[in-house]
Amino acid sequence: DSVFCQIAQAPEDPILGVTVAYNKDPDSSKLNLGVGAYRTEEGKPLVLNVVRQAEQKLVNDPTRIKEYLPIVGLADFNKASAKLIFGADSPAIQEKRVATVQCLSGSGSLRVGGEFLARHYHQKTIYIPDPTWGNHPKIFTFAGLSVKTYRYYDPSTRGLHFKGLLEDLGNAASGSIVLLHACAHNPTGVDPTIDQWEEIRQLVRSKQLLPFFDSAYQGFASGSLEADAKPVRMFAADGGECFTAQSFAKNMGLYGERVGALSIVCKTSDVASRVESQLKLVIRPMYSSPPLHGACIVSTILNDSNLYNEWTIELKGMADRIISMRTQLLEALQAKGTPGDWSHIIKQIGMFTFTGLNAEQVGFMRKEYHVYMTSDGRISMAGLSTKTIPHLANAMHAAVT
Ligand code: PMP
Repeated sequence: DSVFCQIAQAPEDPILGVTVAYNKDPDSSKLNLGVGAYRTEEGKPLVLNVVRQAEQKLVNDPTRIKEYLPIVGLADFNKASAKLIFGADSPAIQEKRVATVQCLSGSGSLRVGGEFLARHYHQKTIYIPDPTWGNHPKIFTFAGLSVKTYRYYDPSTRGLHFKGLLEDLGNAASGSIVLLHACAHNPTGVDPTIDQWEEIRQLVRSKQLLPFFDSAYQGFASGSLEADAKPVRMFAADGGECFTAQSFAKNMGLYGERVGALSIVCKTSDVASRVESQLKLVIRPMYSSPPLHGACIVSTILNDSNLYNEWTIELKGMADRIISMRTQLLEALQAKGTPGDWSHIIKQIGMFTFTGLNAEQVGFMRKEYHVYMTSDGRISMAGLSTKTIPHLANAMHAAVT
């Protein structure tokens, strides 16, 4: 017998498992709205033009070698990533108070940041929103932190539970870590307004909570890199500490390249350099050093003004297509006279709509209409097209009537 014969079959990942089920479905009208990856109007994955151009440049450069990167990753990539999220004129960057390390996309950045905190920070509790991306509680638990939740979403308004958020963070122990989605909250698509962010910031600072931003969608929410970075910049500008995990999976379409960065804004450059030295001790025994190719692509784009400008246009194209899917879906439901108020579809922002459909309705739509989404009723707007919207509207209509 195998020494592993006692091992139980593990369940599929709740998000990635949707695609597994979708792939097994032979029906030709099937629709995968589970996966959080951009698709074109034709339903195809998209490699950005600027990414192709950057890769060409890299391939044609005979001086390029394949040596290991340093533990902290590619220096030009780290600098440009920090500039992208904090702003080119950020005092924290100019004063060299930011420690940035290249990590394995957003997930790896969260994990490295979490493990650093578990080793070196006096408070081990991290508050995450309820609900949040399903990987958050696991990442932070395995990093060695203790996870609690704060109220975020109000099902009755399908909007922000702002009062609950302020109460829960107000009751958190001083020093607690708070995970904040920088923009395009996953799965709800509900973001605080700028005024609400300012209130959150004041509460966080007055209670000496430690903000940890997850920035997986910069530019994807509004189409503007600047607007989507605003909340992070408000916190970085007040002189206090702030963690940011950045992903280039969505905004550059580099999903499988696993390219991201963890930046820690400190109060002095001296602290920042000691923090960086300790981040190396977290990273080295975990994976030694990060991968080269994706970081070179991002660095090439961010450090070339022509490619950068072209990128902002392509990024806005993706964001605009998603926004137009929202309008089209709302109009399709209204045209059918589907009961209920569906205006949250256009109020929510980013890749996902939190439809408000329950698990039973989600199951019905999968079985009867071959429409696949996570059981919490979250649909990826990027998986829709003008052609497929009527099918989804029919399915939703049938599910609620
Ligand atoms: N945070 C959030 C909120 C996300 O939605 C995602 C992607 N689904 C990530 C982090 C990390 O993704 P990646 O590791 O692919 O960058």
